[in-house]
Amino acid sequence: MQAPGRIHGAIIDAVCICADSSTCRVELTVRCRAETPGVFSIAINGFAAMAECRHRAMLTQVSVDKVSDMIIWLDADGRYVFVNRAATRMFGYSAAEFGRKSVWDVDPLFNEDIWCDHWQDLVKQGVVRIETVNRTKDGVDVPVEVTANLVEYKGKFYNCSIVRDITERRRLEAEWRFLNEKALHLSLTDALTGIGNRRRFDASLDAELKNHSRSRAPLSLILCDVDAFKAFNDRYGHVAGDDCLRQIAGVLSRTVQRSGDLAARFGGEEFACILPATELEGAMRVAEGIRTGIMTLAIPHEESPSAEMVTASLGVLTIRHLDNPPRPEILAAADAYLYKAKNKGRNRVVGGEFMRPESRHGQAGR
Ligand code: GH3
Ligand code: MG
Ligand code: MG
Repeated sequence: MQAPGRIHGAIIDAVCICADSSTCRVELTVRCRAETPGVFSIAINGFAAMAECRHRAMLTQVSVDKVSDMIIWLDADGRYVFVNRAATRMFGYSAAEFGRKSVWDVDPLFNEDIWCDHWQDLVKQGVVRIETVNRTKDGVDVPVEVTANLVEYKGKFYNCSIVRDITERRRLEAEWRFLNEKALHLSLTDALTGIGNRRRFDASLDAELKNHSRSRAPLSLILCDVDAFKAFNDRYGHVAGDDCLRQIAGVLSRTVQRSGDLAARFGGEEFACILPATELEGAMRVAEGIRTGIMTLAIPHEESPSAEMVTASLGVLTIRHLDNPPRPEILAAADAYLYKAKNKGRNRVVGGEFMRPESRHGQAGR
């Protein structure tokens, strides 16, 4: 073995004698000036660490190139510094084109001020997640989720973002919202007539009773019951009965049209309307409109004791200046007016204002 020292000369040959995972032994033939070439054997250590390092660098590079998420580096001024292949594929710009752009050239929701705020947040928090929109070269807006990371490289800070296309997630969310709204609508709609059902009526009445307690505006209810409907079914059949109920529901929804009003099927051949901010006089007029509207349908009813066609009786109740009006008592009072209408011979409207039980005289019960 030669003592350590510098050899001056040109390598004219190098042969790898042996290599294992940690060391590579190489024989070098070196010509030193005019002397005959000498052969030197050298060992290169740290081979495994270098190979591992190269392997990791290669995997990192492949990951950056192959992942479907976009990897984007931006400098503190919002300029694109690096984009991976997923980003060039997604947006249609080459890496060089990206290099001439700033965030707001690609993200229509950003401008320089918003970028400055975003950068400040990133500096404070280290990681910032946002959802925004990126516009492709063809002008298509793509919803994206961005996880921005503050990274330091060679003494400068960058925003290194993982950007994910969330078009499919947004589509599923919209579909889910639509189905939810549809399910909610169905749960509040009467299947036979298509108007609000009892659940809708109850929810609306609770809300309007609360509103009344706050606003003290009069609140009116109408209960409408088809006359001799059992006899109608017996004479014309249930299919005709169902069709009759559908037509009557149509009259109610055409008559009760003011915003905030509700017409609903209360159950069986009974319907109910809620008329917020409506005095008794106005509610009686609406009820009379429903009664005459049902007669105008001119659905024959030979078995009816009140007319030759299908008719209905209606009870109207108006509440005024009540604190926390009790729902069961309100419904019972409206029902009592409906049955007054029945008792007086059907096909008519009877109504009045709600009175507390202690001040009520002779109000009919059911
Ligand atoms: P009144 O004048 O006193 O109201 O007599 P009515 O026959 O209308 O009252 P009753 O309560 O005796 O009968 C109601 C009838 O309504 C009985 C029931 O078969 C019918 N009915 C309830 N729901 C429906 C429905 O969805 N479709 C059909 N076809 N009939 C129904
Ligand atoms: Mg009934
Ligand atoms: Mg009836």
